Amino acid sequence: MTLSARQAADPAPDEARIPLCVPEISGLEWLRLKACLDSGWISTAGPEVDSFETAFAEWLGARFALATINGTAALHLALIAAGVEPDDEVLMPSFTFIATANAVRYAGAWPVFLDSALSTWQMDVGLLARFLEDDCRSEGGALRNRRTGRRIAALLPVHVLGHPVDMDPVQRLAERFGLPIVEDATESLGARYRGRPVGRDGTVACFSFNGNKMMTTGGGGMLVTDDPKLAERARYLATTAKDDPAEGVHGAVGFNYRLTALQAALGSAQLARLDDFVAAKRRIAARYREGLAALPGVSFMPEPDWAECVFWLASIRVDPEAAPLDRKALGLRLDHAGIATRPFWQPLHLSPAHKDAQSLGGAVAERLHREVLSLPCSCGLTAEQQDRVIAALRAAFR
Ligand SMILES: *Cc1c(COP(=O)(O)O)cnc(C)c1O
Repeated sequence: MTLSARQAADPAPDEARIPLCVPEISGLEWLRLKACLDSGWISTAGPEVDSFETAFAEWLGARFALATINGTAALHLALIAAGVEPDDEVLMPSFTFIATANAVRYAGAWPVFLDSALSTWQMDVGLLARFLEDDCRSEGGALRNRRTGRRIAALLPVHVLGHPVDMDPVQRLAERFGLPIVEDATESLGARYRGRPVGRDGTVACFSFNGNKMMTTGGGGMLVTDDPKLAERARYLATTAKDDPAEGVHGAVGFNYRLTALQAALGSAQLARLDDFVAAKRRIAARYREGLAALPGVSFMPEPDWAECVFWLASIRVDPEAAPLDRKALGLRLDHAGIATRPFWQPLHLSPAHKDAQSLGGAVAERLHREVLSLPCSCGLTAEQQDRVIAALRAAFR
């Protein structure tokens, strides 16, 4: 059994089982990790974390990068550093992983959930514009939600499932209403929006290196910005807000959010292979798109001409009106064929954890939850394995 198969998110008793998405670990990771261990600098101090941050910032074309213990911590820090305060509101999509909304609550603020657009599966930018224009008012230099009276503090677009949000109109709204943009790019490292890497269109952007993300450090995250003040504030808060390390003086209630050198060593090795991972995901997506084109009611994740998606989790939408079976039944059929799949998140406006938040629409998010299914898409997925998945899907439709 290979290392990546052992680390499968959904371990299967049967070796022939095809997992959803497992990390791709090679000799380079072993070498970097051993060098790190041999150096004696294994925790948050030392050169390894710095060099990972520098390499990541360079890869993305950003000025500053701060490595964190995970993507959620990066989001928490980014929101605070962007000026989000307790009892503020942050505008974000309902159709995303719960960590995005949790980070807003950690900052003491409230999410306002927006529905998605069926054409992109991303936050409905037209709905965002209508909310800002019609449902908010300017008062004393702040923008307030007419309904709750709370201050709108930030826009939090999430590039869901490897697909960029249409950022130009989001930027125009942010400028017009004087709001910072915190990008949740945790699922879309390597994707491009109008030629620019995702994570370059906001005030600050966050990435995740969890086990099944585009690259992994076991667990980890990165905050990226061009704003020196924001970068400094985030670094300070991530390192327990140390004012005077020698005398043990801390100027605020900070966090212990820094990545360790061991994880950074893994990250540097993975980053060196990121272009290959992106190419692999795009190749897998293209093969699915072609292989599933004839199935009634099945559509592959869209890719508009302004986007270059990474297809983090290669996903299809199964329209039960046109297909002979629905997403749930299809998932079960594939499971019986030894193929792991995954449905997508309960929309956050329905989540018991966020039941007190305001929600704008939600019918599309609910539909995506009912209809979207992710297919096996590890970067190491072989053509034979993928053919097995495609054959099983076609069989289920007969
Ligand atoms: C993975 C993910 C996160 C959080 O990243 P972790 O590293 O797991 O904390 C946040 N938002 C979204 C949309 C994610 O998919």
